[in-house]
Amino acid sequence: MDGPASVPQRDRVSGVLLSQIDLDAPVTVLWGVGSERSLQLERLGIRTLTDFLLHRPRRYEDRREFRAIRDITEKGMVTVRGRVVAQGVKKFRGGTRSVFELVLDDGTGRLHCRWWNMPYLEGHFPVGLELLVVGRVMELKPRSMNHPETEVVEEGDEPSVHMGRIVPVYPLTEGISQRWMRGRMWSLVEHVAPRVVEPFPEVKAGGLPTRAEAIRALHFPREPEEAERGRCRLAFDEFVGLQREIQGRRRRLQAASRGLPCGGDNRLIKPFLGRLGFRLTEAQSGVLREIRQDMGGVSPMRRLVQGDVGSGKTVVAAAAALMAIESGYGVALMVPTEILAGQHEGRFREWFAPLGIPVECRTGSIDTTGSGGDDGVGLTIGTHALLESGFMPRNLGLVIIDEQHKFGVSQREELVRKGRYPHLLVMTATPIPRTLALTLYGDLDVSVMGQSPPGRGRIRTYVRGRDKLPKVWEFVRGELSAGRQAYVVYSRVEDEGGGDVKAVTRELTGLRKVLEPYEVGMLHGRMDGEEKERVMDGFRSGRTQVLLATSVIEVGVDVPNATVMVIENAEQFGLAQLHQLRGRIGRGGHAATCVLVMARDSDEIRRRLKVLEESADGFAIAEADLRLRGPGEMLGQVQSGLPPFRFADLAGDRELLEFARTAVAAGWRNHEAGT
Ligand code: ADP
Ligand code: MG
Repeated sequence: MDGPASVPQRDRVSGVLLSQIDLDAPVTVLWGVGSERSLQLERLGIRTLTDFLLHRPRRYEDRREFRAIRDITEKGMVTVRGRVVAQGVKKFRGGTRSVFELVLDDGTGRLHCRWWNMPYLEGHFPVGLELLVVGRVMELKPRSMNHPETEVVEEGDEPSVHMGRIVPVYPLTEGISQRWMRGRMWSLVEHVAPRVVEPFPEVKAGGLPTRAEAIRALHFPREPEEAERGRCRLAFDEFVGLQREIQGRRRRLQAASRGLPCGGDNRLIKPFLGRLGFRLTEAQSGVLREIRQDMGGVSPMRRLVQGDVGSGKTVVAAAAALMAIESGYGVALMVPTEILAGQHEGRFREWFAPLGIPVECRTGSIDTTGSGGDDGVGLTIGTHALLESGFMPRNLGLVIIDEQHKFGVSQREELVRKGRYPHLLVMTATPIPRTLALTLYGDLDVSVMGQSPPGRGRIRTYVRGRDKLPKVWEFVRGELSAGRQAYVVYSRVEDEGGGDVKAVTRELTGLRKVLEPYEVGMLHGRMDGEEKERVMDGFRSGRTQVLLATSVIEVGVDVPNATVMVIENAEQFGLAQLHQLRGRIGRGGHAATCVLVMARDSDEIRRRLKVLEESADGFAIAEADLRLRGPGEMLGQVQSGLPPFRFADLAGDRELLEFARTAVAAGWRNHEAGT
């Protein structure tokens, strides 16, 4: 609405001129938009006429009907139109406080509008002024509202722009009034929007409106639903733009490269599987079949394996590695943390040593390269250090990325570029919702490992307030005395002035006391690799029974004897992350318990955390997390590789995204058929 500081302006853009101006012309071509105005618009991200047209209303207001003041008999939101019949400022507290009040009359009754401590408003609302007022009626005798939004009704206002219709309400910046923005938008929509062309003519938008029509509907819908249809079309275009990029990249890869023959001959996999001590699940064998087909195929594999925590992805990675090694190629396995690298190194050595396959490790602090074979046929495990230039295997056939969600897309590409189009297998335990998967990994084929290995204890999860901590520790002691182990998770290493955020370092002393005589080890991201390894070793071997840790243990750590996890300040984590964390327990046959302790307690926090009490389905939890926190928060910093959508909503537009995806694919096909 018009801020009081902004003076309403009449829109006097020449329609004739406007209908000839280029859509990409800067806003300064508009009448009355000089350097100051264009700077203001720039703050809103508006540089060209097209930007202007895509400035999205933050909401709409139905001004087709105004409420007669006489009919206001309940408190609540109303829109009223009337004239100022009285106004003035009252001062109190020795003139330090004031209230400005105006009385609006619409011919049926009177409404009192008040603003506290804004005495200068007196000059903006003279008696006789016609006003539109939107606000919550707080009292009925007399009818009054506080700090309503207002808009001046001007003589000769085109009735269809600001009044008598559903009007858009825009995000603004200082110096730009709602009225100015809306007036300008009106003439742009009238004179410029019709020339907006279809951005991707080969992609059919089905039943959606044209882009030009969508822009009109977005700003000046005749019905509320029209605005949403307009938004959908513009969101569709955003999805199409991205899908063309993603699918184009994949098509170029297929055209430019031949897959290295890495299907293998089973001579290593057979004995490997024989010695494992368990049978592969259906899900594991299924994914391995897909991988074998990919790695023996004509173009390089690009596959994402999504499997909930504990679904057994490591064995799949090992078998895939063996296929490449059988075929005479080297394999690189990249993991996000040194702890995980160390854990994998141990596990793969155990598996591969009997087969005579060298396993090397390359992280920031540990470097065992050079101990392996010279022909490059073996496995190199590492962290980001693998991306550095020193690592240049001659014979790289397969790149495996574990816990993919911790890496950005660019890092993935970097590692792959090290070889001559090696096969790529990425694995993630964060079951990301499909919309995000298609956006982030749309160029990958996706396998889902739905089923977990048998014999897993169920994880019961409880949400508890701080006051229940004594009981929680009692329970933990019970489990420890039965020979089990426990994790205690804190969200920060040091208290960064975050109030009730406990610090792991400080917490250690307290926890040791509470859990005496059991041994408590501590693990956090700022320890160096060797120290971490020592602590992890202590926990793995059972010398320490309790591991106090930050969320660094989230990723891939596997200690089957650990059955309890207490997560403090649980409200600070996302649901998907909590699910991931609790996946660390319940890996042996024993029943497992996760306790989510809230430092702050509110209905909203409880409701969010309850999702975890009730669901064990990683995908459902991820969807809930996406809805509750939005994609940016959900994925965290590392993966801010998400495109900045203006209209598309990754939490709600799944069908639209699927539609865009198939429409783009059909577009390529038609194009090829036509030429
Ligand atoms: P994640 O998918 O989270 O990476 P892991 O690969 O670490 O899971 O596997 C979790 C545990 O399950 C490991 O101890 C692993 O040895 C075990 N495991 C994997 N596959 C099977 C299976 N088919 N049967 C029984 N246990 C299995
Ligand atoms: Mg894993």
